[in-house]
Amino acid sequence: MFLYYVILIYYVILIILEVKRMLVSAKQMLEKARDEKYAVGQFNINNLEWTKAVLLTAQENNSPVILGVSEGAGKYMGGYNTIVGMVNGMIKDQNITVPVALHLDHGSYEHAKKVIAAGFSSVMFDGSHYGIDENIAKTTELVALAHEKGLSIEAEVGSIGGEEDGVVGTGEVADPAECKLIADLGVDMLAAGIGNIHGKYPENWAGLSFDVLKEISAQTGSMPLVLHGGTGISKEMIQEAISLGVSKINVNTECQLVFAAATRKYIEEGKDLSGKGFDPRKLLAPGFLAMKDTVKEKMELFGSINKA
Ligand SMILES: [Zn+2]
Repeated sequence: MFLYYVILIYYVILIILEVKRMLVSAKQMLEKARDEKYAVGQFNINNLEWTKAVLLTAQENNSPVILGVSEGAGKYMGGYNTIVGMVNGMIKDQNITVPVALHLDHGSYEHAKKVIAAGFSSVMFDGSHYGIDENIAKTTELVALAHEKGLSIEAEVGSIGGEEDGVVGTGEVADPAECKLIADLGVDMLAAGIGNIHGKYPENWAGLSFDVLKEISAQTGSMPLVLHGGTGISKEMIQEAISLGVSKINVNTECQLVFAAATRKYIEEGKDLSGKGFDPRKLLAPGFLAMKDTVKEKMELFGSINKA
């Protein structure tokens, strides 16, 4: 009898560990972040090295994390099924137990459907370039589809400035009333333009519009808000944004910059020409390590460390 219980407990523990090593929707992690006033970082991935850098750093710091995949990066990596296979395999092999969501970044209507079928755990539908009526119709349909399959869904109101995969926005500030309309469709998180821009911020950038953020937050209640364009926003502005309901912050350009700089340094120092320094595992190592440092810095800034 005793042995029977020992075996039973052993299998229950195995099942729990297996469940912990699966992709999760971003809903719960963002609701917790919103309640406890920190933000979860979305770090965009472009290849295996980037995926490994983000996942290992999250695990080392006991932080929840969101892996962002743009449509361009999806195509680059070979397709959404390839990415799902790689991420799930890495979570298992590297024993990643912190909550991880795999999220389509700025998805079109068609690609949102593709990632739902491929096994992503979260999706952003960016209908900001449609008129509000069409944005509402398409968001409504995708909310139902995503929720039916257990995915979380992010919507966007008011296009975000800078470049999104070749589409250049003007840095619009969202209308809080439109934010309320979209939030009420049942999305799990809402991206709203508040003067934020993708890519590097210009010298004369006016900063985030906190008055608008306050109004959006008041209108949308407990909806977790998403700040895109997290590269180069000051520590003070990040903290104020979090205090006003921002629970997810997207980082992409900063990882690209540090990865490129570290790779450049390696080559400029001639290390690829010495010994077997041309081995891709050596060539890409400095960029990988630089990215890990940046991801950790962001997790510290966003307050997500030890919040897994
Ligand atoms: Zn974005």
